[in-house]
Amino acid sequence: MSQVMSPPVQAPRKLIPSELRAQSLYEKCNSLAHNLWWSWHPEVINLFRDLDPIRWRQLDHNPIALLQEFTPERLELRAAELVLYSRINYAYRRLKEYMNNPQTWGRTHAGVLGSKPVAYFSAEFGIHESVPIYSGGLGVLSGDHIKSASGLGIPLVAIGLFYDQGYFKQHLTHDGYQQEEYLDTKIEMMPMEPACDATGKQITVTVDTRTGQLHAKVWLMHVGRVNLYLLDCDVEGNSPEDRELTSRLYGGDTRTRIRQELVLGVGGCRALAALGIVPGVYHLNEGHSVFATLEAIRERMHNDGMTFDNALRDVAQHTVFTTHTPVPAGHDRFDGGLIEEHLGPLRDQLRISYEQLMGLGRVEPHNEGEPFTMTVLGLKLSRRANAVSALHGHVSRRMWAHLWPWRVEEEIPIGHITNGVHIPSWLAWQMWQLYDRKFPLGWLQRMGEPEVWQTIHDVDPGELWEVHYALKNLLLAFIRRRVSRQCRRRGESDAVVEAARNLLDPNVLTIGFARRFATYKRADLCMSDIERLNKLVNDPDRPVQIIFAGKAHPADEPGKQLIKKIANARFDEQFGNRIVFVEDYDINVTRHLIQGVDVWLNNPRRPLEASGTSGQKAVLNGALNLSVLDGWWAEAYDGANGFAIGVGKQHVDDRITDVRDAEALFDVLENQVVPMFYDRNVDGLPLVWIQRMMNSIGTLAWRFSAHRMVADYVRHAYLHAASGLSCEMTVR
Ligand SMILES: *Cc1c(COP(=O)(O)O)cnc(C)c1O
Repeated sequence: MSQVMSPPVQAPRKLIPSELRAQSLYEKCNSLAHNLWWSWHPEVINLFRDLDPIRWRQLDHNPIALLQEFTPERLELRAAELVLYSRINYAYRRLKEYMNNPQTWGRTHAGVLGSKPVAYFSAEFGIHESVPIYSGGLGVLSGDHIKSASGLGIPLVAIGLFYDQGYFKQHLTHDGYQQEEYLDTKIEMMPMEPACDATGKQITVTVDTRTGQLHAKVWLMHVGRVNLYLLDCDVEGNSPEDRELTSRLYGGDTRTRIRQELVLGVGGCRALAALGIVPGVYHLNEGHSVFATLEAIRERMHNDGMTFDNALRDVAQHTVFTTHTPVPAGHDRFDGGLIEEHLGPLRDQLRISYEQLMGLGRVEPHNEGEPFTMTVLGLKLSRRANAVSALHGHVSRRMWAHLWPWRVEEEIPIGHITNGVHIPSWLAWQMWQLYDRKFPLGWLQRMGEPEVWQTIHDVDPGELWEVHYALKNLLLAFIRRRVSRQCRRRGESDAVVEAARNLLDPNVLTIGFARRFATYKRADLCMSDIERLNKLVNDPDRPVQIIFAGKAHPADEPGKQLIKKIANARFDEQFGNRIVFVEDYDINVTRHLIQGVDVWLNNPRRPLEASGTSGQKAVLNGALNLSVLDGWWAEAYDGANGFAIGVGKQHVDDRITDVRDAEALFDVLENQVVPMFYDRNVDGLPLVWIQRMMNSIGTLAWRFSAHRMVADYVRHAYLHAASGLSCEMTVR
């Protein structure tokens, strides 16, 4: 590096006026930073990192925050030192080409959506760790959905909420109890701009309630070719309390909740109208945004003079509703008082009675004791509803069968489209390079095709293992850095901090478990038999280590107790160096974990995991799934592409299910996973294991990609909805 640092920085300045040059370079970097396209392009990420690797990490990988620490001059200087000009120009040109490229899959297959795009509503979007407007799986799914819609060139706009405190940051106390910290997001550090009307004024929308008006301003975030519009209640005109309405994700009581959902659904529709966007399809991702349908009905009555019944039918034909929750208790419910307070003025304009409105959200329309359920409204007001895995489809049809009492279960009109993940966002750079070298040219444009991924079997096993081993070492470095920092923050002794710097061993079978700490996910299942766990973990020849991460909802005390139990394993002599809890699970932690572990563990109580997507991210990087046959894994596992816990049965009594599943977990670990991992040839390679890694990548990567998922939505939902055809989504 030293030879490129020495040339005098004055020299180039004389050739080109420095202001002009510096400004354009600075502007190019800022353009890159203001489209989240950069977040799935490793060469652009590396570019930002190279500008200042330490600050990059400290600033949560936020390029806007990073660039604000540079003057144009300093950026110029740094670019000269590192010879970054051509890389910046190249990245900038690629972004421009991407934005202007008319040759997309969507152009060919979804052309009819052209002037009337899909409006995709979701309460959260997980796009990158530096944009904290997500809490977990639902958000990451929405983020991956719009990234793939961008990649495929689907005409789609997205609508969400801007949370200026996002979800909480997690710290643990010395004895493992979760602490929540909410940080204010600096708007000027976010990759967004005011969404403006024709006169250049930031758009604000207003929603009437019986107790006053709610106002929200609208922001625009660029996610590749997709525009994401975010509503934000922190505006003048709102009461101080309402200004904080969209501060936090899933905070507050049911009243906060219904007001957030009113802003998202009704406010979201009004924002689209103010922008001059007429959606051809409404895709409501989970129940939070379903009030949008009522506003869409009002628009049709008002603009086109339709009757309520005709408008309802028309809106339903253009609406796609995706449900994510496999238990009745998980669905948003509101009592009549809250509904009337918040939907009353809209109801007046729809010219329907209170009873009629409540009936739309009830299974039994006239049952006065029944609250208003968002999912019921979603099912009634969409002609196409879907669950998010095949098994979840069965569960949802059974759960909602009473909405269609005259139909048998198979005919309940809820289909399924299994979730998938956005490959470029989750694929490790090193793995990406391996695929680039071995896969057919242009594979990234064809990542939803099975043939592409079969090429993995042509890769040399030693090479695949080498890449995996390198990624595992990167993960361990990350864990050690994080955990030692955790210990220091808690004021623990130097010896403890130092010990954390030497945690874990790259040659030991490494299992990862990270997800929301809801009790049904049973994070402590492997601790149900401490003696057996001890034997596994401390086997002298074939040891095992486990890395845990995850947040519990602030109100979920049992979830917090689970975290405590696992985090405190560090005080236990037998587990101290082998069971680790990493704080503050987010997209960044996910990325490290799923790229570096040998095994990705998932042991929910079946059938409560609607789909799950973290295991799909692990697949791309060569980790093997070890999972209960629930969610996506129930349709993915073929006997040779990972490991199954149990045989996909559950007992009516949860306690019995738990005992049996724990037994099955230990059985498969002791008899399959551990022996296979440590079965090495003369070169130290676990050939059978590597074969299984290849089977996993070859059979699963394309099927559980978000490109395949979005293409399925286009073919099975969007095109039908756009044409207003009234056929239902078929059960597949
Ligand atoms: C992928 C992801 C999830 C969802 O994973 P599950 O398998 O559904 O638990 C949740 N949180 C984060 C941060 C993720 O990246």
